[in-house]
Amino acid sequence: MEATSVLISGAGIAGPALAHWLSRHGFVVTVVERASGVRPGGHAVDLRGVARDVAERMGIMPEVRRHQADERGFAFVDGRGRRTASMPVDAFGGEGIVADIEIMRGDLARILYDATRGYVEYVFGDRVTMLAQRADGVDVVFAGGSRRRFDIVVGADGVHSAVRGLAFGPDSEYVRHLGAYTAYFTVRDPGDLDNWFLMYNAPGGLVAGLRPERGGTAKASLTFTSPPLAYDRQDVSRQRDIVARKLAGAGWRVPEILRQLPDAPDFYFDEVSQVHVDRWWRGRVTLVGDAGYCGSPLAGLGTSMSLVGAYVLAGELAATPDDHEAAFARYQDEMRDYVAACVQLPPGGVSGFAPRSRFMISLRAFSMRMMTRWPMKRVMAAQFGKADAIVLKEYAAHGAENRTGSPG
Ligand SMILES: Cc1cc2nc3c(=O)[nH]c(=O)nc-3n(C[C@H](O)[C@H](O)[C@H](O)COP(=O)(O)OP(=O)(O)OC[C@H]3O[C@@H](n4cnc5c(N)ncnc54)[C@H](O)[C@@H]3O)c2cc1C
Repeated sequence: MEATSVLISGAGIAGPALAHWLSRHGFVVTVVERASGVRPGGHAVDLRGVARDVAERMGIMPEVRRHQADERGFAFVDGRGRRTASMPVDAFGGEGIVADIEIMRGDLARILYDATRGYVEYVFGDRVTMLAQRADGVDVVFAGGSRRRFDIVVGADGVHSAVRGLAFGPDSEYVRHLGAYTAYFTVRDPGDLDNWFLMYNAPGGLVAGLRPERGGTAKASLTFTSPPLAYDRQDVSRQRDIVARKLAGAGWRVPEILRQLPDAPDFYFDEVSQVHVDRWWRGRVTLVGDAGYCGSPLAGLGTSMSLVGAYVLAGELAATPDDHEAAFARYQDEMRDYVAACVQLPPGGVSGFAPRSRFMISLRAFSMRMMTRWPMKRVMAAQFGKADAIVLKEYAAHGAENRTGSPG
């Protein structure tokens, strides 16, 4: 029996995780990534609840722990750097704003790639430009000029998924702008973070964050509120200008952060948005991770949903490899409630994260101080507890013995 071939677009978090599970079930997997290598960058992402179980089952936890960010907690600061509210890691048993397992996104992407590169075909520096679905496969044209046929194609290419654009329709149908933009990049560690993730709000909906990491650097984030902007998503220097202009004049350490912006090697900029797709498949094409369901960095849990989604999608496909549509339907059924819980924004949404007035900034710090106390503590614990809103099925390695490409 011939192995089912799967093309995954995107080597972020969801793509390599799916490649792992599909290979384990005996599928032959190719991953195409637009960037020339695994993309570095991004802040710490957390592994919460069921996603941690998936990471355990993948066998990557020892590597994750080796790269784990050493953070003691999260604190709001004022313009002079004084803490106005704080939440230590253990405030919610390691499941609060800063979870007990936090890892830099770039490190996790690298770990997933290293774990799978031995048995997955990775093609960097290329992308899908055309998909034509046939009764017995999908004909794919790549920007580099090659043409190949796959049994199944999966979009794991993030919020602005090209696969979704080709098979489902334009971003405007699926991406909901939440009213803000964020940039992430690496800066020098100022030396006094003391392992705390610090966040500063300035009036006008401006937010700056600094997260410590190992090795003398820190991750900066800069956010501003704005209606949708027209800019070229491939024009990084224009994006740096937008961020510099919007944040100019904000206090605290923003001037120092902005000085390092032009040379940051891992600058990443995007709108704060959610992705909602009614039905996660069209024929032989489906979506995983941010491409199919994204709650935005405000809701968090994007990495968790990607890992869990990859596990479930691969397991369901393995259960009925000859009936992919039934498998895709079960994948969405299994994930539906979990995703619905995970994409819920925290109270206040963007205005809670980036308050516009001094009064609202003080009020937000006050509510943060209340979070660790009764009765708010119970409300917040429920908010953080949604990471467990799914029970993982056990999926046998169907057909792996008949197929090639399995990591065993
Ligand atoms: C550089 C970077 C930094 C990030 N930083 C943060 C952060 O600090 N905090 C946070 O909450 N979330 C961040 N995110 C988003 C976060 O990674 C996701 O929400 C979550 O982990 C889900 O992962 P994903 O694999 O679905 O998407 P992503 O991690 O976005 O990965 C998508 C991958 O697809 C690739 N890609 C895009 N278009 C194409 C194409 N046409 N063809 C082939 N490949 C394509 C991208 O280069 C990327 O490698 C970041 C994403 C990126 C790419």
